[in-house]
Amino acid sequence: MRLLVVEDDPDLRRQLVTTLRGDGYAVDEAEDGEEAEYLGEVEPYDAVVLDLGLPIKDGVSVLKAWRAGGINKPVLILTARDQWSEKVAGFDAGADDYLTKPFQMEELQARIKALIRRAAGHASPVLECGPVRVDTSAATVTVDGKAISLTGHEYKLLSYLIHHANSIVSRTELTEHIYDQDFDRDSNTIEVFVGRLRKKLGVDVIKTVRGLGYRMEHAIESA
Ligand code: CA
Repeated sequence: MRLLVVEDDPDLRRQLVTTLRGDGYAVDEAEDGEEAEYLGEVEPYDAVVLDLGLPIKDGVSVLKAWRAGGINKPVLILTARDQWSEKVAGFDAGADDYLTKPFQMEELQARIKALIRRAAGHASPVLECGPVRVDTSAATVTVDGKAISLTGHEYKLLSYLIHHANSIVSRTELTEHIYDQDFDRDSNTIEVFVGRLRKKLGVDVIKTVRGLGYRMEHAIESA
């Protein structure tokens, strides 16, 4: 899963990026509205954290431009305290959720997870495929009840595949959703990650669809 964090306050931006990377997301960042609008148009983010008070172009205008252009990715807006009119403008522009500053980082983490889950059409944070169980709220993976230790990239890969289970996911799509902008993609091919992931899981749940990509079949939401 790949996120965009848009925030002009450098301390808060750094804190958000570090926290979300720690949760296993690939994270890009933007510090003004113009850069944010461009990145949101060209990169396939799974969710966006968008501050509304931004230099060059404000967050509401950025969001309106995305929605007018048919970009429907989930967006959580950050609003200043006591600015209820800003919040209303944000929702009118197409925001999916909001947090008022100052907020608890844990709340933002929980809301982002819920947004991504809902966008993929899942209600439960725990997804299962055969003996493989992925708890997306704790970012943990078990096979037959035994905990499996995955690297950040392996977890991102598995999480994306199981969120999009029963559909074919191409290598290009995976590349776009598990690496951030600055990552050296060439030396870390998807095939290598898939191979390592299969070995660690030890069960055959990730099918190769020749010429098209990968598919996890019969995944279900855990109650
Ligand atoms: Ca701001």
